[in-house]
Amino acid sequence: MLARYACDPARSQGRRIGEPASPPRTEYERDRDRIVHSTAFRRLVYKTQVFVNHEGDLFRTRLTHSLEVAQLGRSVARALSLNEDLVEAIALAHDLGHTPFGHAGQDALHDCMGKHGGFEHNLQSLRVVDELEQRYPRFDGLNLCLETREGILKRCSVPVAAALEVAEPGGVARRFLGQQQPSLEAQLINLVDEVAYNVHDVDDGVRSGLLSLGQLEAVGLYVHHRDAALADHPQLADSPRRLLADALRRMLSAQVHDIIAATQRTLDQHGPADADAVRRLPPLVCFGPTMREQSTQLKRFLHSALYRHPQVMATTQRARDLVRVLFSAYAQAPVQMPPEQAAAFELRGHRVVADYVAGMTDRFAAREYERLTGQPAFARD
Ligand code: MG
Repeated sequence: MLARYACDPARSQGRRIGEPASPPRTEYERDRDRIVHSTAFRRLVYKTQVFVNHEGDLFRTRLTHSLEVAQLGRSVARALSLNEDLVEAIALAHDLGHTPFGHAGQDALHDCMGKHGGFEHNLQSLRVVDELEQRYPRFDGLNLCLETREGILKRCSVPVAAALEVAEPGGVARRFLGQQQPSLEAQLINLVDEVAYNVHDVDDGVRSGLLSLGQLEAVGLYVHHRDAALADHPQLADSPRRLLADALRRMLSAQVHDIIAATQRTLDQHGPADADAVRRLPPLVCFGPTMREQSTQLKRFLHSALYRHPQVMATTQRARDLVRVLFSAYAQAPVQMPPEQAAAFELRGHRVVADYVAGMTDRFAAREYERLTGQPAFARD
């Protein structure tokens, strides 16, 4: 069933702490199950990417985003005979380390941690599954397989990789030091993550009223599939919402089909003998050249029209301020954190504050801000 270059759970590099098998599940299915039952996974429902949680109930959250990434990932993995269970585990865990309020929160936390080792959200996702979850009698974290952890640590700066390598020689950070690639399953999640958010941000952007259908005329991929939808179903001209949904659905499938075809070509061309050979080759999971261009155009459009929209910028600026205020309030008065974190601060300092703030949902962070300052977190409309 699996291609020779797919990750095979029977040949996994294993867990940091050995555990007996759990049949009939494979080790990657077991990782997925541990992720789904984690506290950090449940919190994803109240964490956002572009729109802050209180702005509406219709928008994607980190949880729905992660489910969309898992769905797209599994479709491609099945077509290429890659390991679907590993793909699903990585997809469901890939955003666990995200702070409240999306990238704004993460940038603010990185600034706050400037003198204390910085803050990287991919590394934070790994910290969640390696250390911060406390659910098992014998170990901290979820004790996941190396292949799952490697997929979660999508990016990592060289100094951080060097420190990880000291703690775990030949482990999860080795590839950042030796310029190697991760598994095909991990490469796949990186790419479909992008596919998922580019398309759903168009959807949420239009729903929110921040993007107009007129602006989308500048996006080739959208125009092509909108026109195809209208050609097949002329009555959609009278239902803008259905027309948008159909155009976006077609954009998603076109990208999925393109990834399958382009990746199959690179696999045929390089012919990796097994999963290990993949690591020494260039990245193999890819778009074809035309789709790569169209996807870049879509990304640029979203960047200027949505992510830099004055209303989004105002909210993200506010979110950044909130995170800064929370961080310094806890760092100055650790007793404002729960007793466990307050005690840990004595031993481990500011990293405890970063972990505590990073773990917050949008609404909990907003409530904490209100409790600590007596001021409203966001202007009510
Ligand atoms: Mg993501």
